[in-house]
Amino acid sequence: MNFADLGLSDELLRAVAEAGYEAPTPIQASAIPSVLMMRDIIGVAQTGTGKTASFVLPMIDILAQGRSRARMPRSLILEPTRELAAQVAENFEKYGKYHKLSMALLIGGVSMGDQVKALEKGVDVLIATPGRLMDLFGRGNILLTACNLLVIDEADRMLDMGFIPDIEEICTKLPKQRQTLLFSATMPAPIKKLADKFLDSPKTIEVARPATTNVNITQWLVPVASADKRGRLRDLLRQDEVRTAIIFCNRKTTVRELNKSLKRSGFQTGEIHGDMEQPQRLAELDLFKRGEINILVASDVAARGLDIKGVSHVFNFDAPWHPDDYVHRVGRTGRAGATGTAYTFVTPEDVENVANIEKLTGQTIARLDAGAAPEAAPAPAEAEKPARRGRGRGHDQDRAPDRKPARDRRRERPPERRADRGARPRDDEPLDDDGGWNGPVPGFLSARIP
Ligand code: AMP
Repeated sequence: MNFADLGLSDELLRAVAEAGYEAPTPIQASAIPSVLMMRDIIGVAQTGTGKTASFVLPMIDILAQGRSRARMPRSLILEPTRELAAQVAENFEKYGKYHKLSMALLIGGVSMGDQVKALEKGVDVLIATPGRLMDLFGRGNILLTACNLLVIDEADRMLDMGFIPDIEEICTKLPKQRQTLLFSATMPAPIKKLADKFLDSPKTIEVARPATTNVNITQWLVPVASADKRGRLRDLLRQDEVRTAIIFCNRKTTVRELNKSLKRSGFQTGEIHGDMEQPQRLAELDLFKRGEINILVASDVAARGLDIKGVSHVFNFDAPWHPDDYVHRVGRTGRAGATGTAYTFVTPEDVENVANIEKLTGQTIARLDAGAAPEAAPAPAEAEKPARRGRGRGHDQDRAPDRKPARDRRRERPPERRADRGARPRDDEPLDDDGGWNGPVPGFLSARIP
């Protein structure tokens, strides 16, 4: 199948060819013709499958006809985080360079005034996080009655972040006769319910089993005592051929401290987490994308959907509390057919988390050094595995794992993790508006394409 078979305009085919894509990915091949025929779509697809272009490309051709009016966007794309919203905006710039469409980005953490000005000029494409959109709506700055095309992206992530009530409300403000595209890596019951309520005879396209990790990624568990994590990390960063790495931590404070410590040890590092203001977050990502730093220490804000090419290694400095976060973190490497390596540090407290990861992915992850494994409760499938020797050995074997009863460990978890997942604030939740920086987001806030 070629892009030329999908019914896209010549201008778009030119932009796609210039992006270097030879053939559509499976979700693009299935979704694009249906979107062009104005059908509703449920796309069960993870990031990395090419799902963004599967809605951005046909949207550009659909919106090429018609004109926008002040404060009445013609289409709306809802994204869970500012980074994903900015990434979709980049896609519009890339593929829409031969079209004259206008877009605006509505995200928390940047000045409302500039966003309102952009809306007043009239936009063809509005890309928004739900919180900021609801805010502007409440202030009467925006009307959704001419918005005939709605994309709900990363719906399961929206659910995690407690955005579903906002999305339901937004849906009721759009015209009933509209086209709706919903993308989600998984389809938990509340997302199915949302789709039943707001989509009309949708075509369902599923491109990969949810919650699987890419076969191109070599995965290791690294048993380690908490006190030895930094030393072990430095060794692995030096021993293995680490070109570019993302190191994930569960807490923002760990991100900050680890970044400082790695810098002191001479590594070229940066950090990204939910406490940083938007321009800072984008600036750090940019340094990483341009290769000025090769190690990014991150909270889960960077785990979902961020498309950074050529990441050779992912380190889970902390084993993620939720197994689906593991799949998303590890998926930052091994993209677009490349190979990658993922190391997950496992302290005695993490055994339960690792067992959950292995249950979700249906994979047993090899231990880099079974000699240092937590003794008391190895992950079930791991118990009979032979030790892998020779690499990264020797830091922790002598230390007795300091195990505590499961009840005590649970008590030590941060309160937000004990709370209901749907309602708790997360590290990567868009920050409340107007708390921070008051300038435009470089390049994205409002752009006329080209
Ligand atoms: P996404 O799933 O939208 O996050 O896309 C993942 C990556 O695949 C991005 O780097 C895209 O630039 C890239 N991509 C999208 N479509 C294609 C294609 N048809 N061929 C090759 N790469 C693609």
